[in-house]
Amino acid sequence: MQLDYCIYRDEFEQLAIEVHALRGELRRAIENDELLLHYQPKVDLESGVVNGVEALVRWQHPERGLIYPDEFIPLAEQTGLIQALSIVVLKMALRQSVAWHRDNLDLSVAVNISACNLMEEQFPQRIAELLKEYEAPPEWLELEITETGVMTNPVLAVQTVRALSAMGVRLAIDDFGTGYSSMAYLKKLLAAKIKIDKSFIADMSRDDNDAVIVRSAIELGHNLGLRVVAEGVEDSDTLALLKTLGCDSVQGYYLSRPVPAVELEAWMNTSSWKPARLRETSTEASPTSRDTDTEAVCETSVCADDRD
Ligand code: C2E
Ligand code: CA
Ligand code: CA
Repeated sequence: MQLDYCIYRDEFEQLAIEVHALRGELRRAIENDELLLHYQPKVDLESGVVNGVEALVRWQHPERGLIYPDEFIPLAEQTGLIQALSIVVLKMALRQSVAWHRDNLDLSVAVNISACNLMEEQFPQRIAELLKEYEAPPEWLELEITETGVMTNPVLAVQTVRALSAMGVRLAIDDFGTGYSSMAYLKKLLAAKIKIDKSFIADMSRDDNDAVIVRSAIELGHNLGLRVVAEGVEDSDTLALLKTLGCDSVQGYYLSRPVPAVELEAWMNTSSWKPARLRETSTEASPTSRDTDTEAVCETSVCADDRD
């Protein structure tokens, strides 16, 4: 049935005014360095080594305080500001990765990119220019794309993703299991890893159905030759179960909340989970299997909530 009328309500006009104002504020935020990144470590379960971090954007609003991405990324996508926002985020992430490598820390940074970026023909070229500008090899950057983002226009997305892979930039499929993705495209994407969505991880130690889904996702990923990351690990039982299931890496509040770079460095200095180093330092023992003991993590987990 086709409706050939629409209902006008005063609230719609008010909403349009608010969206317009917020768009202006977000544009200023992008230009005036009000965006910042928090970093959350990812740990390799076999070695216990912190093998990378995910960069998560926040908006330090002058009046409203710290704003989380769920509140402004959709707006950026709807208003065409996402391209500029993504470039700012990529620059901050690359600058940080370069600084860490200079400090002997072999930490690659994963940046979330939106479906809109994947649809930009110039995107791979822009990434190549940024890597050159920051003198960063492509392995220092990882891009996280969602299944839904890919399926918005799979043909174009596969083209962009393949161009990025050819440059040596690694790709991860984020929120795996929540969207609809065709196995055929999954194979064509040449992704290096999948990240199982936190909604399946949260209750997997209590809910058999979730545990079965996670086990199947790990097997599927491995059968496709991909590394598997579990996000949203909040307790030691979940960590232990993921280890038993052969998951490759973990990320979640149990290890550390997303925090500013300096706080992450402090955490790495005290945690049992050690960062990957470019060169061995004499004062440090190399990571042992003890580093992956859940008890050891428990003593040193960062509990500061970046939302508080
Ligand atoms: P995401 O990519 O799935 O990121 C993971 C989200 O889960 C983050 O929320 C993170 O803080 C949160 N998280 C991490 N560990 C746990 C845990 O153990 N338990 C629970 N309950 N949550 C956990 P955040 O930072 O609010 O980001 C929300 C979403 O915003 C991200 O989801 C991503 O889709 C988007 N986003 C963040 N930064 C960017 C960005 O720079 N660009 C774009 N396009 N999107 C971004
Ligand atoms: Ca992500
Ligand atoms: Ca995710």
